[in-house]
Amino acid sequence: MLRGKTALVTGSTSGIGLGMAKALARQDARIVLNGFGDVQGARDEVAALGVEVDYHGADMSRPGEIAELMRFAADRFGRIDILVNNAGIQHVAPVQDFPPEKWDAVMAINLSSAFHTTRLALPAMREANWGRIINVASVHGLVASAEKSAYVAAKHGLVGLTKVVALENATTGVTCNAICPGWVLTPLVQKQVDAKAAANGWSNEEATRRLLGEKEPSMQFTTPEELGELAVFLCSPAAGNVRGVAWNMDGGWAAQ
Ligand code: NAD
Repeated sequence: MLRGKTALVTGSTSGIGLGMAKALARQDARIVLNGFGDVQGARDEVAALGVEVDYHGADMSRPGEIAELMRFAADRFGRIDILVNNAGIQHVAPVQDFPPEKWDAVMAINLSSAFHTTRLALPAMREANWGRIINVASVHGLVASAEKSAYVAAKHGLVGLTKVVALENATTGVTCNAICPGWVLTPLVQKQVDAKAAANGWSNEEATRRLLGEKEPSMQFTTPEELGELAVFLCSPAAGNVRGVAWNMDGGWAAQ
């Protein structure tokens, strides 16, 4: 379905980003990966799906490196048709103890990076009159949890940015939407499970059960594969008039 299209997925060396990249690759899109950690492993997983794949290691907290990433992707494959803004980090602390440098990092990576990639991707998408911008927000773009001030503020901001970009391009073939996952068992969440287990003397299983039980009525994690399929739908012709939505896939979290 996406043969001939190029997808850039930020933060795609693990977790949800890698799941999105693989789902788009299964639809024959060329993939540009980004992120830290096991780069070769991610490249191999995507290449095994039979598509062209490349990688740029821009630090998404740095606007200069983001500009280099965008130039690299456009030079390598001609144009970025699908932009998935996924890179994100978490830090957990009450507001009065929240380190200002952590606040700045969460804002830069989880929110400002999407502004920079979007502003740089839009001209070519508008010229082609086709583009898909998918912002991986969170259920925390819709509701709050204690001790996640920067994350909740950034994700609410990302949902707001999504709506503005959707409106500014509403008469074009460029759509912008947000996906809002509940708990997904990725390294980002495993760290929170580990912290709960350590703080309370619980086993990994007990900490996982309590984490889900606090928020997610289905008592099930959403998977990167399920989120990838939602991204594929948003890239499909049927989703051409889906604009500015924040679509949660959260086991009923935000319905409460
Ligand atoms: P993850 O830690 O598995 O992946 C994060 C990715 O971002 C990795 O590829 C990492 O290398 C990359 N990254 C981190 N800092 C970066 C930087 N400065 N520059 C470039 N890349 C950077 O986490 P994940 O759970 O897959 O999270 C992906 C996105 O999904 C995040 O935006 C997160 O907020 C969001 N999300 C996650 C959950 C969840 O339960 N896991 C729920 C809702 C939303």
